[in-house]
Amino acid sequence: MDTGPEMDAAFFASWIEEAARAVSSDRERLTALDAAIGDADHGSNLDRGFTAVAHALGTAEPATPGALLTLVGTTLIRKVGGASGPLYGTFFRETGKALGDDAEVSLARLHAALEAGLAGVRALGSAAEGDKTMVDALAPALRALEEAVRDGGAPAGRAEAAGAIGAAASAARAGAEATVPLQARKGRASYLGARSVGHEDPGAASTALILAALHAVATRW
Ligand code: ADP
Ligand code: MG
Repeated sequence: MDTGPEMDAAFFASWIEEAARAVSSDRERLTALDAAIGDADHGSNLDRGFTAVAHALGTAEPATPGALLTLVGTTLIRKVGGASGPLYGTFFRETGKALGDDAEVSLARLHAALEAGLAGVRALGSAAEGDKTMVDALAPALRALEEAVRDGGAPAGRAEAAGAIGAAASAARAGAEATVPLQARKGRASYLGARSVGHEDPGAASTALILAALHAVATRW
């Protein structure tokens, strides 16, 4: 069975490098979002985490996509405090574990693994969609990816795969924007009650950024 183009460890290393660059350049924006409904540390938390991740990947040079994303996850758990460190750490670690030790993975495999990552986030944080968290960006993104993988079967080539990843990134951005009118029911922002309404959730915003980084890498692939 033809499963379309496959992504190797170098592809995933590029994703994480791109995500680290994006988090670093949008650090102040993420922190400003967290200043409105949290404690103004989301940008600095993630920047510290992804800087440590870049260092860890440079030292260990994991050979498979699964090992690489697992290392991203364990590093984020170790280096990032607050809610988002364990949550993003779990997301990447569970995604990595689900990829096993294959040298290359198809888009359908990646989609299934990202679902395992999302399941890990839900299990740890028990947030549902609509609670104004990173889940509001991640869940619609994975639905968009699933549709693209299912409707057309396996993507025929890299351009089709990049298109599917682009649909996921757009859904994540739309999901983040849709958190603005919501009242937070999980995390620090929930302490504000109705005063959390009218602001974009910082974790949903960073999820959109991380998926945009995946799309950017897929378009250069
Ligand atoms: P902290 O809230 O501990 O300061 P951060 O500011 O780094 O941590 O991250 C805040 C983000 O974490 C929120 O914007 C939200 O997206 C996410 N978050 C918080 N609690 C949860 C949860 N229970 N489930 C999913 N995401 C959560
Ligand atoms: Mg915070």
